[in-house]
Amino acid sequence: MTSATGAPDPTPHLIPAQHLDPAQHLREQRAALQSRLGALAEDMGSFFEASRDSNADDEHDPEGQTIAFERAQLAAVTDQVRRHLQEIDAALERIADDTYGRCEVCRLPIPRERLEVRPTARTCVQHADAAASGNVT
Ligand SMILES: [Zn+2]
Repeated sequence: MTSATGAPDPTPHLIPAQHLDPAQHLREQRAALQSRLGALAEDMGSFFEASRDSNADDEHDPEGQTIAFERAQLAAVTDQVRRHLQEIDAALERIADDTYGRCEVCRLPIPRERLEVRPTARTCVQHADAAASGNVT
C-alpha cells in the first residue's frame, strides 16, 4: 500500500516487538473469530434445514445445486476460521513460552512489520514456505 502522494513513510519502525502487546491483539482477534464461528454455525444450521425441507435432488434442481455450493463455501470458511483460531492459540502459547516472534527455522526475530500483518507468523518471510510445506524440523 503506497500513499497517493508518493511521500515515504516518515515513521521509523524502531518500536521493539514487545511494545506491540501481541497477546492483547491476539485475544481480541480470538474473540472476534469465535463469534464469527458461532454465526457460521448458525448459517450452517439453517442450510441443513433448508435442504431437509426441500429434499431436493442436487443433480437436477438448480436451487439444490446452489445450496450445495453455498454449503461447501460455508464449510470452507468455517474450516479457515477454525484453523486461524488454532494458529492464534498456538501464538498465545508461544507468548507464554517466551518463544513468540522468533522464526521456528532460523531462530532469528521475526520483523515487526511481518508480525503486524500476521501476528500468528511462526517464521520469518524467508522460511515461510518451508513452514507451510511442513518442512520445519
Ligand atoms: Zn527464519
